[in-house]
Amino acid sequence: MMGMVSEYFGSMVFDDRAMKANLSAKVYASLRKTIDEGEKLDLGVANAVAAAMKDWAVARGATHYTHWFQPLTGITAEKHDGFITPSPDGGVLMEFSGKELIKGEPDASSFPSGGLRATFEARGYTAWDPTSYAFIKGNTLCIPTAFCAYGGEALDKKTPLLRSMAALNKQALRILRLFGNDKVKCVRTSVGPEQEYFLITKEMYDKRPDLRFTGRTLFGASAPKGQEMDDHYFGAIKPKVAAYMEELNEELWRLGILAKTEHNEVAPAQHELAPIYTTTNIATDHNQLTMEIMQKVAARHGLVCLLHEKPFAGVNGSGKHNNWSIATDSGANLLSPGETPYENAQFLLFLCAVIKAVDDYQDLLRLSVATAGNDHRLGANEAPPAVVSMFLGDELNAVLEAIETGAPYEGTKKTKLKLGVDVLPKFSRDTTDRNRTSPFAFTGNKFEFRMLGSSNSIACANIMLNAAVAESLEIYADRLEGAMAKGAEDFETALHEMIRKTIQDHKHIIFNGNGYDDAWIKEATEQRGLLNYPTTPDCMPHLLDSKNVNMLTRQGVYSKAELKSRCDIMLENYCKTVQIEANTMVDMAKTEILPAVEAYTLKLAQTASAKKALDAELACRYETEAVRKLSTLTDEIAKGVEELECALAALHLEGDIITESYAIRDNVLPKMEELRASCDEAETITAKEYWPYPSYGDLLFGVR
Ligand code: ADP
Ligand code: MG
Repeated sequence: MMGMVSEYFGSMVFDDRAMKANLSAKVYASLRKTIDEGEKLDLGVANAVAAAMKDWAVARGATHYTHWFQPLTGITAEKHDGFITPSPDGGVLMEFSGKELIKGEPDASSFPSGGLRATFEARGYTAWDPTSYAFIKGNTLCIPTAFCAYGGEALDKKTPLLRSMAALNKQALRILRLFGNDKVKCVRTSVGPEQEYFLITKEMYDKRPDLRFTGRTLFGASAPKGQEMDDHYFGAIKPKVAAYMEELNEELWRLGILAKTEHNEVAPAQHELAPIYTTTNIATDHNQLTMEIMQKVAARHGLVCLLHEKPFAGVNGSGKHNNWSIATDSGANLLSPGETPYENAQFLLFLCAVIKAVDDYQDLLRLSVATAGNDHRLGANEAPPAVVSMFLGDELNAVLEAIETGAPYEGTKKTKLKLGVDVLPKFSRDTTDRNRTSPFAFTGNKFEFRMLGSSNSIACANIMLNAAVAESLEIYADRLEGAMAKGAEDFETALHEMIRKTIQDHKHIIFNGNGYDDAWIKEATEQRGLLNYPTTPDCMPHLLDSKNVNMLTRQGVYSKAELKSRCDIMLENYCKTVQIEANTMVDMAKTEILPAVEAYTLKLAQTASAKKALDAELACRYETEAVRKLSTLTDEIAKGVEELECALAALHLEGDIITESYAIRDNVLPKMEELRASCDEAETITAKEYWPYPSYGDLLFGVR
């Protein structure tokens, strides 16, 4: 099987090989220019590309095409159109024009726009992103696109992502030119997202309304065994899971997705998939596809793939590590220390740009990963805390400290630059990747942003990261270009001073200790003044803080109206998610849990009275105690349901979405926890055959 991979890898992608094979040399060259340098595509070329793409797709069984896009709902959307058009002789022709390739007009009215689209103008349009290759899924040719309203406002996550990449490219090029790099044509960010997930059997999933409606268990007492033995992480993969992974890899490889490593994660039934990194917009498309295909393949194996951030209480949740770096078109990684003093100064400048960006825009990074689901992870002693900090490792820290204090760094040989850093040590991954508790860790030649939730689109985090780094670079470039105009000496002085000042001003964001420690949160907030936004309602409104609006509009990543719409949509999403969970709990407790507990209580009471009828002296202490306990719990559950219903009813009185989200956080979620606590306790006393749902033990250890 493995031997064939090279033959089928990317076979369902209209990639560079397919383009070369199916386009004329002239058309290929002009498409390549569009892809590599953002040159505008003319309609003649588009027509030729569309025709070739259609023939290629039809030869692989495609009958339809779709503009595949990523609306603000967080999933992907597609509307399929057939290639067929009637032919004059009464038959059909398979047709696909350049116009259809470049632009689509889906009815946008049912996608959230946060007020961006006037109701009378339901249409939006999709525009081809030629840098992300088209691919075939089932019988459909999928064309990756951006999705906008007719006024030009972005209705999706792709458009701002592309804008953020363009912003970073522009500023990074200015810096590179200052360092004498005249040949670099463009700078792109790359991402390799490590994706965590759970696999459970379909049979058990079907028996749990909470999983079906909300993706997570809303009830469930802990299993006797959890993850305490640490025997699952990197452990042997069970045959059923291995078969799943094999088929998943094959499907992903056909789509040109470089799925590379897979292993068990910390929690039982938890696994991870990591692809080889690629350009950020492509990585984003690939991650969306990966999540979709993970679920599809699971269904074929009688399994369900859970992508929720916290499917099980008391067991590690699932995240997504966003490995991020910046590279030139010739492949030079700008976050990799170099060989010469100039390269190293340049590396330090880019490093400082990231440090400054992460510190200045902690709030944006935090809110870029905020969802109701991820709120259960961040700060729960398993995932990074909700406080953003950076880990650089001892070696790099020593370098920065030396620069800040002006002391010679001991690894330095001879000093050519005022910076005092001639030769930087090669940062081996082993020494830098130790700290797994940091939200934002330097791992040798890339940063790993670890706060993303497993179901998050990686677009949001990368938009904020790219924009914030572009902003730092712009400030640096403005200053350095001015100095350079006065001569090389001034440039070096300014460079040194700026790096030193960045370290001085922003070192409070650097933390190399244990991020899971409560003492750290205290130090971070009380001594260092770092931001701590534990929940979505805490952080999301800060999207509209003037500092953030100014930066994101200045970088051309979002308009003010777009930001307002995102804030509303994200908060609405949060409120709806929790309300659905609360309604599901009410429903489960009323119609299944309470009747089950009552039935078992009755059974115990009947047993006791039958015993007494037989012989009044017979011991019935167990039955009596259990009935007493269950009766108390029954009343507690009923009261919990009532209070939760009240909290939900009161939500209708709230005015705006921000106030409503506070009410959810303060009134609804705590009531959900109370109700859960009494139900979970009842589960531990009720006979298994009476309990309506598979237990945590069944769910977590059910796949063999
Ligand atoms: P781990 O973090 O588990 O030690 P690796 O460091 O091997 O694993 O890689 C994790 C992810 O980081 C992979 O998806 C990999 O492709 C990605 N990655 C490696 N180098 C880079 C880079 N320069 N830019 C972005 N992602 C990268
Ligand atoms: Mg990692």
